[in-house]
Amino acid sequence: MSTTITSPVSTDSAEARRYNRIKRWLGIADFGIGLAFLIVLLATGWTGTLRDFAYRLASQNYSLAVFYYVLSLILISKLLGSPLDLYGFRLEHRYHLSNQRFRGWLWDEFKGLLVGLVLATIIVELVYFVIRQYTQHWWLIAWAGFLGLFVLLAQLAPVVLLPIFYKFEPMENEELKRRLVLLSERAGTRVRGVYKWILSEKSKKANAALTGLGATRRIILADTLLDNYSNDEIEAVLAHELGHHVHKHILKSIVVQAGITLFGFWLANEVLHYAIDRREMFAGMSDFANLPLLVLVSTLLSFLLMPAMNAYSRFNERQADRYCFHSVASVDPFISAMTKLAEQNLAEKTPSHWVEWLFHSHPAISRRVAAAQDWAKGHS
Ligand SMILES: [Zn+2]
Repeated sequence: MSTTITSPVSTDSAEARRYNRIKRWLGIADFGIGLAFLIVLLATGWTGTLRDFAYRLASQNYSLAVFYYVLSLILISKLLGSPLDLYGFRLEHRYHLSNQRFRGWLWDEFKGLLVGLVLATIIVELVYFVIRQYTQHWWLIAWAGFLGLFVLLAQLAPVVLLPIFYKFEPMENEELKRRLVLLSERAGTRVRGVYKWILSEKSKKANAALTGLGATRRIILADTLLDNYSNDEIEAVLAHELGHHVHKHILKSIVVQAGITLFGFWLANEVLHYAIDRREMFAGMSDFANLPLLVLVSTLLSFLLMPAMNAYSRFNERQADRYCFHSVASVDPFISAMTKLAEQNLAEKTPSHWVEWLFHSHPAISRRVAAAQDWAKGHS
């Protein structure tokens, strides 16, 4: 055990370390089960059995068969993952981080399954429609369609997707509203709104985010944050979120995603051709029994790119933090807000380097606090 001794923040409790270690292993196990499921489907030929079953159920109608096939894949993988999901629910309770009752959790799981099914059906039907129409350049056209859907979803997220799971109310704190207007004016920008995100019905954790695109762009602040933090601390969080807005982080992330998915679709096309032409694994490109192979390619690609994507996200977070340091009178509320957030969310303030490098989309709290202190020293 050699954690940093120069850390400006007190080292983490054994409880926080244990909680985060279990959460990480849960994530890894979940990923492993998903991967194993795809490999088994392909290696045993069960994907073909499932396709034949879907065709029979759909009376040989192609699009309907695609739907039944997607439905059965989603149901089976949900079933395989459900012990881990249940363990995750109980874990939050064991560490006193959840306010959610079992029935409420079950309802959320059901809604999540339904949303996943709708999105997966749209994407898979689109992909195989394009494959059938344009066998040569399907991957380029499917990518364009996927990108359009991605932008639409980013736009709809705060007004359609998030309200399926959470309630939102306009923020009523007049003093905070006044400060946000001042922050925005100084930045020469305008955020359409700040909303109170009712998180306390489900969780004891606090959170804040910038969501939406264009007309739906907004900052959301959890009620667990609004009710327990001082106006100065909330202003620091608002300034950080405004930093994401000013630096156009959502748009930039979409552009990065677009590049990655373009490569992903190209790669999927190459792998499919190899599996069909050389290995004779499937009847053809439009044989949707090859779907697990497409999913496998995208899963492995996003796994390999995870450290790079997390590094990119941490870069954006540091930029938003610096924006906050510039725009508030003192960095002290930022430091106290970060420390309180870490305590409340049972986050590790000083994770090991490799854990931060692999898994964390945000810099470690100890580093964010140190950056704020350094900034204050340089500007006093
Ligand atoms: Zn952020």
